[in-house]
Amino acid sequence: MQSLRVNRRGRYGDYGGRYVPETLIPALDELEAAFRSLRRDRGFRRELQGVLHDYAGRPTPISHAPRFSERAGVDVWLKREDLLHTGAHKLNNTLGQVLLAMRMGKRRIIAETGAGQHGLATATVAARFGLECVIYMGAEDIRRQALNVYKRQRLGAQVRPGHSGTRTLKDATNEALRDWVTHVESTFYIIGSVVGPHPYPEIVRVFQSVIGREARQQFRKAVGRHPGSVVACVGGGSNAIGIFDAFIGDTRIDLIGVEAAGRGLNSGAHAATLVRGRPCVLHGSYSYLLQTPEGQVAEAHSVSAGLDYPGVGPAHSALRDTRRVTYAAVTDREALKAFHSLTETEGIIPALETSHALAYLLKHRTRVNSPVLVCLSGRGDKDIDIIREVA
Ligand SMILES: *Cc1c(COP(=O)(O)O)cnc(C)c1O
Repeated sequence: MQSLRVNRRGRYGDYGGRYVPETLIPALDELEAAFRSLRRDRGFRRELQGVLHDYAGRPTPISHAPRFSERAGVDVWLKREDLLHTGAHKLNNTLGQVLLAMRMGKRRIIAETGAGQHGLATATVAARFGLECVIYMGAEDIRRQALNVYKRQRLGAQVRPGHSGTRTLKDATNEALRDWVTHVESTFYIIGSVVGPHPYPEIVRVFQSVIGREARQQFRKAVGRHPGSVVACVGGGSNAIGIFDAFIGDTRIDLIGVEAAGRGLNSGAHAATLVRGRPCVLHGSYSYLLQTPEGQVAEAHSVSAGLDYPGVGPAHSALRDTRRVTYAAVTDREALKAFHSLTETEGIIPALETSHALAYLLKHRTRVNSPVLVCLSGRGDKDIDIIREVA
């Protein structure tokens, strides 16, 4: 039951830790100390609660999905993070981290992003609080995401390309770490999921756990009981940890994390890190990782950019090993089908990432316990061009 909480060595079981250059250790220590004292600080908590309410739009509702339930054959309720400002759960975390940065006296924000939802959420909070903001993106992603890049620039962020490797998220992350090493005095690195060196996975868990805290109460009030199963998609794992956190202690409630099987688990083109990976070190922490037979980091693939990452948060690795959470994967095709299904039956256009969680219900209705609570992590407007291309 303790596996969601980090231990004194910065680990969840064997996973996590700090695999970073020596020069970053003092910065991580400083961050950990600031976070420890501020998370209990009444003024800080009130300030965060205030912006989550007045600026981001919390609490987000839960919605019953009667027509989708009919298709799925189970009773489905949706936690509506798509209704949060900027259209996904990411803002819960970037708001928390930017307030932390300011309390620590750091006025320069850096972040890395693949397709861009974390970049957008970071540029948004930097604009809101008037901070300098640099966002690293893979050169290939900059080309693919021209409109997103433009949006971030209008928000005042500088977008810088990472040119190494496959020119995608993995390289942008390396570039961001390099920047942080060089400007560690002035700069706060906002990490976008429950990944990276300790204490980031714990910080992001705490900031995202508002999702589950609200949903548990709302569900109880609306349905008169707790959900039988809670389902969320898993990229780095932050929306999943955010909703699971409130239910983890109650083992009668099934928790299910859904990864991207891409073109199929045997195609070599997927992002099913927990289902098919092996433990190794990436981006500062020890966790499950997609690897080639030679032990190199394998390239991930998913139709949804937010799941297209070869690593996963260390808490999920521990939860996989203890089996408190069941991890599964659905293909691009299954996710696309679920995307259309929710759109047609409920008038809610889900993100392609979220569509993976919904696809699990359509595919495995017998493996979930009704009523089901799904984390609707984000809205799908950003994915419409992709949908049109593959249709
Ligand atoms: C980024 C993103 C994800 C994946 O990130 P997690 O850290 O696994 O939550 C899922 N859904 C949406 C809408 C996203 O933007």
